[in-house]
Amino acid sequence: IKRDGGNGVRFYERTMNAASAERLALESDLRHAVERGELFLEYQPVISARHLGAVGAEVLVRWQHPRLGRLSPDRFIPMADETGLIVDIGAWVLGEATRQARRWLEVGHERVRVSVNVSAVQFAQPRLLEVVADALRDSALPPASLVLEITESSLMTDVESAVGMLRALKNMGVQVAVDDFGTGYSSLSYLKRLPIDIVKIDKSFVRDLCEDEGDAAIVRAIIALAGNLRLSTIAEGVETAEQAEVLRAAGCDFLQGFHFSRPVPLERLVFSTPPC
Ligand code: C2E
Ligand code: CA
Ligand code: CA
Ligand code: CA
Repeated sequence: IKRDGGNGVRFYERTMNAASAERLALESDLRHAVERGELFLEYQPVISARHLGAVGAEVLVRWQHPRLGRLSPDRFIPMADETGLIVDIGAWVLGEATRQARRWLEVGHERVRVSVNVSAVQFAQPRLLEVVADALRDSALPPASLVLEITESSLMTDVESAVGMLRALKNMGVQVAVDDFGTGYSSLSYLKRLPIDIVKIDKSFVRDLCEDEGDAAIVRAIIALAGNLRLSTIAEGVETAEQAEVLRAAGCDFLQGFHFSRPVPLERLVFSTPPC
């Protein structure tokens, strides 16, 4: 009898080793990515549902890896979280974003806001307050021009400390958006307890909005609830004119997605708020 099961196992082990070796290599590359200037930012416009012009932008980080090419944040942000490198990366992103937003303000886009993603690990560290304060001070950006996007799941892991952190951020004057809203298991009643400003409807509800009545009902419920709590709403992942229209009609305040623009390099970002 020919036995090849062993080979299968050995092959499996070898691929596992190759995968973890690759991971280790990537991790050590990431350690140097900031100082080598390999990280860069793209900006996705946030569109007013009222006049369909861009009133802000979300900053999304990318990594131009010397061998692997352009990597999306899903490939390295979780790794940055696990290794603690997210602290340096997050500080760099915040510094760049606030400096950039300050420039927009200087050329007359006074109401434009910049949105920056904050990972669960960043949000759990008291140090975040210092990082945000430093970025605001160094850039001289008015705090109200900065929106921090924090996922629903990071807010829900420890609601008590989340409330404390959110209060501290609020005292600094920055805006807070709950990202990926609707994907967690949070009871809607938590929304009332959290000092937040914006609810960002997850793109999984927007995708089939026009075909799936369940998704449409959820989206309408989120918008209505947010309205009652005096929170603004952003829908993400808007890919068609039809979705945009349904969202606008339902009372959603802001829209974001490929239908309006993919994330673009800074040079291609255009705001419609009139410079005054
Ligand atoms: P997110 O914050 O939920 O960002 C939205 C993601 O959806 C982005 O992917 C964006 O490019 C993509 N997207 C935008 N419009 C559409 C659309 O119409 N359809 C579809 N299918 N997708 C759309 P991206 O840039 O790959 O970012 C993935 C995630 O990485 C982000 O999810 C965010 O959680 C994280 N991330 C990105 N930049 C940063 C950062 O600077 N810091 C931290 N901590 N996390 C970041
Ligand atoms: Ca986001
Ligand atoms: Ca999101
Ligand atoms: Ca997400």
